[in-house]
Amino acid sequence: AAEEGFEREDVEGALGEAGHGPLPVLAVVGRPNVGKSTLVNRIIGRREAVTEDRPGVTRDRVTYEAEWAGRRFKVVDTGGWEQDVLGIDASVAAQAEFAVEAADAVVFVVDAGVGATDTDEAVVKLLRRAGKPVVLCANKVDGPSGEADASYLWSLGLGEPHPVSALHGRGTGDMLDEVLKALPEAPEQTFGTALGGPRRIALIGRPNVGKSSLLNRVAGENRVVVDDVAGTTRDPVDELIELGGVTWKFVDTAGIRRRVHMAEGADYYASLRTAAALEKAEVAVVLIDVNESISVQDLRIITMAVESGRAVVLAYNKWDTLDDERRFYLEREIDRDLVQVRWAPRVNVSARTGRHMEKLVPAIETALAGWESRVPTGKLNAFLGEIVASHPHPVRGGKQPRILFGTQAGTKPPRFVLFASGFLEAGYRRFVERRLREEFGFEGTPIQISVRVRE
Ligand code: GDP
Ligand code: GDP
Repeated sequence: AAEEGFEREDVEGALGEAGHGPLPVLAVVGRPNVGKSTLVNRIIGRREAVTEDRPGVTRDRVTYEAEWAGRRFKVVDTGGWEQDVLGIDASVAAQAEFAVEAADAVVFVVDAGVGATDTDEAVVKLLRRAGKPVVLCANKVDGPSGEADASYLWSLGLGEPHPVSALHGRGTGDMLDEVLKALPEAPEQTFGTALGGPRRIALIGRPNVGKSSLLNRVAGENRVVVDDVAGTTRDPVDELIELGGVTWKFVDTAGIRRRVHMAEGADYYASLRTAAALEKAEVAVVLIDVNESISVQDLRIITMAVESGRAVVLAYNKWDTLDDERRFYLEREIDRDLVQVRWAPRVNVSARTGRHMEKLVPAIETALAGWESRVPTGKLNAFLGEIVASHPHPVRGGKQPRILFGTQAGTKPPRFVLFASGFLEAGYRRFVERRLREEFGFEGTPIQISVRVRE
């Protein structure tokens, strides 16, 4: 069989690589210019200068993956907030509040040379209220002479100030050791807990698509008292809602209900919230407003959901307002702009009238089923054998790369490893993915395919 000739460790190596769950989240907060972005770059080990972003331009990415001493976590970069909307103080506080809500631990950065300002004091109050672990970073201590400045920051009452030079790396290792102590081993909610807590849903979408209206509509009378349900934490940012006889956890609903009045910061906040909600969820319900053209922001949110590896349902909201002409254009926009999620189940709903709300749960269940499904190795290889015979890879440079063997390395989302005799072109990989979907379904889930070339 095709399987012959494979070393076990080939397969196991591939499996090990594929496994990943949600990671704990670290937020880096502080006043402008204290060195947050420099520190984030240092932590994620990248020179790519986040600092060079033009002010006022919303960044696509607000979270980055990092690793220290063998542990992986996410870093939330709060540097993208527009400063001049409410004045520095208010916007720093708001930024910190949002970031902290999404985080498991916080690094609070202060410029040691400047010392603690009133704004810093205000942020400290907020951090205390939030109750998350805080590591105090006394930044811009580029040499031993700055250490005395750092020690003044004991006065903030946040414990030991860690003298750091984000710019040169001095002291960052010790500080990251503290960060690891502050971060939970795994985030509060883990996949497939033994208790099998409720399935976790993130409602995401641009501001004003109707997330909070939809949440209110589904919550209605169906809210469940948190403490009664096994396997749940008492995190007030989430809500338990019973639908179709099953209890679901809607994650980060506090973030949905919060009204963001700062028009300028709204985009940035929305991205931050989306990333945080996805991190905690198993399935994302992406809301789209049928009256608006599908925008760059919609696409960015959909891409975030797909890249996070969550199951995806598309909910076209405000269907009550749709007229025939707009409907015609909407269908065309969907065909043109949403090809990357053609596999996602779609519901056409109205949070206002309640139209088709009953279709939401079946769509979510379909997506979760696809997300968790597994193709037995025998079946997969029979299918791959057929593909290789009927649609061989084009000959390149006199050689014809062949898929030799494949295995599904994981689920949630389905991950495949294909072993091949040569490099498989992107077009061929897409073809394989399309055929996999035709053959095995995978409705509502991204699928990941990696290829190992066997020399
Ligand atoms: P943010 O606004 O808090 O994100 O701050 P930035 O990371 O953009 O840094 C503001 C300025 O401080 C930049 O010019 C950085 O090069 C500088 N800076 C950041 N960290 C250090 C440091 O450890 N030492 C020194 N001397 N300068 C730093
Ligand atoms: P969010 O920012 O995504 O939470 O959006 P909201 O739930 O606050 O809704 C934004 C606006 O759209 C509000 O004025 C809602 O009343 C309105 N809206 C939400 N859902 C619907 C709907 O299904 N139909 C109509 N006509 N309006 C809706």
